[in-house]
Amino acid sequence: MPSITTEEKNNINSKKLMIPFYKPIKKEIEVFEHSYKSKIPFLLKGPTGTGKSRFIEYMAYQLSKPLITVSCHEETSSTDLIGRYIIKGAETIWLDGPLTTAVKTGAILYLDEIAEARPDVIVAIHSLTDHRRELFIDKLGETIKAHPDFMLVASFNPGYQRGFKELKPSTRQRFVAISFDYPDSKIEADILINETDILPADAKKLVNIANKIRNLTELGLTETVSTRLLVDAAKLIHSGLPKRLAAHVAIVEPLTDDLEVINALKDLCDLMI
Ligand code: ADP
Repeated sequence: MPSITTEEKNNINSKKLMIPFYKPIKKEIEVFEHSYKSKIPFLLKGPTGTGKSRFIEYMAYQLSKPLITVSCHEETSSTDLIGRYIIKGAETIWLDGPLTTAVKTGAILYLDEIAEARPDVIVAIHSLTDHRRELFIDKLGETIKAHPDFMLVASFNPGYQRGFKELKPSTRQRFVAISFDYPDSKIEADILINETDILPADAKKLVNIANKIRNLTELGLTETVSTRLLVDAAKLIHSGLPKRLAAHVAIVEPLTDDLEVINALKDLCDLMI
């Protein structure tokens, strides 16, 4: 029987046990562990689909802490995070929001795309991001101390040149921050193989396509090919969709609506897979 490496064994075990699979890119695991111990909020910076959410799922698993994720959008307000009164029958009852629950129970709260949220969200987390580690609930007139295990994590896509929302320096400087980017070819191919069981040769071709498109800066794409898009293409190929079609629908079409660019990228994919 062919022997397998420890890493391959871990990957197989992680699939069996439903452990989130995460392939480290640099020192992010070590940095996160120390930030958690030192109770410093953590900011994950980087374009969409580069493994930020997967990383935090993995870290929560490793630290055996519950993870509460809030996907922020332009309507996300402090009330959504802290809680609100609701009417139930003849009664008005208070319902904790995800932030309050995390603060009380010692969970990791992950605010995905924090810059998208309304400004009052930033105000609400202020006192949790410094030595006070407390949450003020104005509707109840209460201040609660964070559970020792509570940690605040946020993600942010620094694409301000492309019209994405910015995070103020006064907010950013409350976090330890680490940048996520598209992984090296070998690592990215390993991610595809692990996520989808695609053949290594096909994984390599998909990564080559991605790298080629990533270098075509003259296309002026708002965001380029993410690992997420490659995982989707690999899944389609593994499920039996013809490779070129899979590359067209999973890589090219989600990137742009410009017909000329779409056709050029499809031709490029056809040459490479
Ligand atoms: P983000 O939160 O940065 O938008 P995700 O964490 O959702 O991105 O990553 C998108 C997908 O890419 C994941 O579901 C996973 O399949 C894959 N992925 C990206 N980076 C990694 C990594 N380092 N290890 C394992 N999977 C990864």
